[in-house]
Amino acid sequence: MPFLDKLAQLVPPDQYSIQTDQLAVASKDESTLDPVTPQAVVWAMNSDEIASVIRLCYENKVPVTTRGAGSALEGSTIPLSGGVVLDLSRMTKILDFWPDDLQVQVEPGLIYDDLNEKLKRDGLFFPPSPGGSGDVASIGGMVSTNASGIYSVKYGGTREYVLELEIITGTGEIIKIGNRAIKRSSGYNLVDLISGSEGTLAVISSITIRLAGLPEGRLQAAFKFPDEVSAARAVSEMCRYGLDLAALEFLDRKVIEALNQLKGYGLEEVPALFLEFHGPEAALESNRELAETICLEAGGSELMLAEGQRPWEIRHFATDAIKYRQPGYAILRNDVAFPISCLPEMVAYCHELGDKHGIMMHTFGHVGMGLLHALMLARRDNPKEWQTALSVNDQIIKKALRFGGTISGEHGIGLGHKNLFKIEHGSGVDLMRRIKAQFDPAGILNPGKIFDL
Ligand SMILES: Cc1cc2nc3c(=O)[nH]c(=O)nc-3n(C[C@H](O)[C@H](O)[C@H](O)COP(=O)(O)OP(=O)(O)OC[C@H]3O[C@@H](n4cnc5c(N)ncnc54)[C@H](O)[C@@H]3O)c2cc1C
Repeated sequence: MPFLDKLAQLVPPDQYSIQTDQLAVASKDESTLDPVTPQAVVWAMNSDEIASVIRLCYENKVPVTTRGAGSALEGSTIPLSGGVVLDLSRMTKILDFWPDDLQVQVEPGLIYDDLNEKLKRDGLFFPPSPGGSGDVASIGGMVSTNASGIYSVKYGGTREYVLELEIITGTGEIIKIGNRAIKRSSGYNLVDLISGSEGTLAVISSITIRLAGLPEGRLQAAFKFPDEVSAARAVSEMCRYGLDLAALEFLDRKVIEALNQLKGYGLEEVPALFLEFHGPEAALESNRELAETICLEAGGSELMLAEGQRPWEIRHFATDAIKYRQPGYAILRNDVAFPISCLPEMVAYCHELGDKHGIMMHTFGHVGMGLLHALMLARRDNPKEWQTALSVNDQIIKKALRFGGTISGEHGIGLGHKNLFKIEHGSGVDLMRRIKAQFDPAGILNPGKIFDL
């Protein structure tokens, strides 16, 4: 029997499709990389269905690309080698909840904001908060990319919260890894290995995460600066002082311009820092005062937002504002991370490169943990300009690596930055290849991502 006929028999008819429109949805993610059409899409509803699809693909050497919400930004969700897209977006159940332990077990397709909406009733939340995609990102996708966000400065990224996983390897074996203990010294940490592996080692079919208590009080503040480097200096100073920050976001002047253009916010077009503090009321104000002193010393002052304007709502639209700013232009991006003291030099470097090569440069991000997004706009149908922007992007990443940093602080490698992976990891890449072979001996799980076999 042909492969697709066998595949169709593994799940009910409404969980299988080879229709053009559904293949088109499954062919891409939120990156600007070219889509690749898969042979079929399967919407699995449980571990057994996932395992049976993978076993069939293993026997037939057919590639499988797992899909959560498809909001990845580096092409990690594009089914590069065709094959089957295993879509887990219908697996959205909360499987178990232990409020007294601050833990929850969920299916991988559950959306981040939906989970937090439910947890709110018990005074809990799952903190990583991806800035612009919390309303779409699935928990499985977040674990697979080790996503982070505005509150990761205080609370950490996704990996820090994952306790136990059920995974399905590239041969279709179902394995439970990790446990519900918060502290453990028991053998290799396989849970951490799967977090951030972008679907190349195993499919995650259930996730137990720990949670945090909702803060007693919150205080937000916004500061403006005469130039980008002054803002960046204030960031590294605040971190050096050990200021207790829940969020510390930077938006450069061009990002603010783009936000005004898209949303009509009427914001003063200057570089800005958005801050949030969590804790008891008394501590909130003293933290804010210290932050203000540091910002003033760096040449900054308070940024007045209009009545009802919220910093995080503004921040939420940063990527979209850049994306839609210049018709005919596409985004090239990176999400480099590096030691915090390098931030002023890094911000200056990005803007110097943009000016020198005539590329429209935007910088913003969760800078409180040394994570900067540099987004460039260039025309794909102008090969010279596109190549220049690609080269500028590579130069920024190489600078981060020279600082002792990483190519990706949160979006993953996918296809977007595969070319530079060896520079960061050297012979560690060969070790990663050998690890992949243990989980996925036929190399069918999301092939061609992160590194080539
Ligand atoms: C506007 C915008 C803003 C964003 N802001 C942020 C941000 O602030 N921080 C951040 O970290 N990211 C951000 N992102 C990127 C993206 O939202 C995150 O990477 C998110 O975690 C991806 O989740 P997803 O469900 O869309 O995953 P998908 O795109 O579906 O998948 C991502 C990767 O994980 C794999 N995968 C998915 N589910 C599973 C599973 N169950 N088992 C095994 N592998 C799996 C896929 O194969 C793929 O390699 C942003 C994206 C957009 C569009």
